[in-house]
Amino acid sequence: MVDLRSQYERLKADIDNAITGVISSTAFIKGPDVRLFEEELQRYLGNRHVISCANGTDALQIAMMALGLKPGDEVITTNFTFIATVEVIELLGLKTVLVEPDYGSFNISVEAIRRAITPRTRAIVPVHLFGQCADMEPILDLARQHDILVIEDVAQATGAEYRFSDGTVKKAGTMGTIGCTSFFPSKNLGCYGDGGALFTDNDELAALIRSITNHGMKVRYYHDTIGVNSRLDTIQAAILRVKLRHLDAFNEARARAAAFYDTQLSGLSGITVPERSAFSSHIFHQYTLRIAGGERNSLRECLENEGIPAMIYYPVPLHMQKAYLHLGYRPDDFPVTTNLSGEVLSLPMHTELDDEQLAYITGCIRSKFN
Ligand SMILES: *Cc1c(COP(=O)(O)O)cnc(C)c1O
Repeated sequence: MVDLRSQYERLKADIDNAITGVISSTAFIKGPDVRLFEEELQRYLGNRHVISCANGTDALQIAMMALGLKPGDEVITTNFTFIATVEVIELLGLKTVLVEPDYGSFNISVEAIRRAITPRTRAIVPVHLFGQCADMEPILDLARQHDILVIEDVAQATGAEYRFSDGTVKKAGTMGTIGCTSFFPSKNLGCYGDGGALFTDNDELAALIRSITNHGMKVRYYHDTIGVNSRLDTIQAAILRVKLRHLDAFNEARARAAAFYDTQLSGLSGITVPERSAFSSHIFHQYTLRIAGGERNSLRECLENEGIPAMIYYPVPLHMQKAYLHLGYRPDDFPVTTNLSGEVLSLPMHTELDDEQLAYITGCIRSKFN
């Protein structure tokens, strides 16, 4: 699904330098590369603050802690996402309110959010799924009308751009109250282990977030708030500084592979290629097809027999996960999510796919669907 080795071979000299530099400095925790990476990412995003942390799941949890969300507060998010998004809501004792995604874009449905808002709604967590922004303008309008916080889950879309109706363009994660991302190795901007970050334009919130990531202290051994230990390792920051310089090129390489898939696969009956939303760029964290007529699993097997990996993101809707049955939803509460879980199939997608590999993969699918 991803080819991290070939990408490393291409960047080897710079990456190896970055790693050995940190080791010989022994500044493993909060070394200079951490601050430099935060500054460079902040310049790339064009926002005010980037605060790094240990992983994307922590970023989401720290965001909800920093915003002062309290047990019982309702948090609306999509039923079609990676488990981390709801995990932290539940860990903090908040009330998870799941809503349907949009069938075409896979992203949270604005109409479904509107219907789910109650007087107890404190936050919305739109997830920019598979590399494309959720429709932020109407979501931000709703949030303003109802005085609700917006926490963007940018783990799959670092570098994607959203276009507002007045022509303003903003990077994913810089539109809501806080943006949360992950640098897990397979993400569009990935390190060689775990990593994450929070984005915000609010100076006070940034200071609070920074202190929460470091045991709730601003001055050493004076703890103003309950915090966590969630820091980005200096080695990972040094690797990310190298990779950030290539992020746009990485995302372009993914978009090229997606365009190849599109030309070979659109028009095949029973296959729907990924929709491109008018308001967002698509940086293809995943290239995800919808396969109709119950053919998804057999296509997946067929590809596997040819040595082609294909993955189902996500096979079980969150409301049907064993650990989340206590939320009290019924199986048929989410027909859109349920349909998607039965139809989606993600093809290999990374920065190193060449035409020969793409032709092999698409040839295999065409021979089954023609
Ligand atoms: C990867 C991911 C996360 C969690 O990131 P980690 O760094 O693995 O903790 C959260 N949300 C979404 C949508 C993700 O894809």
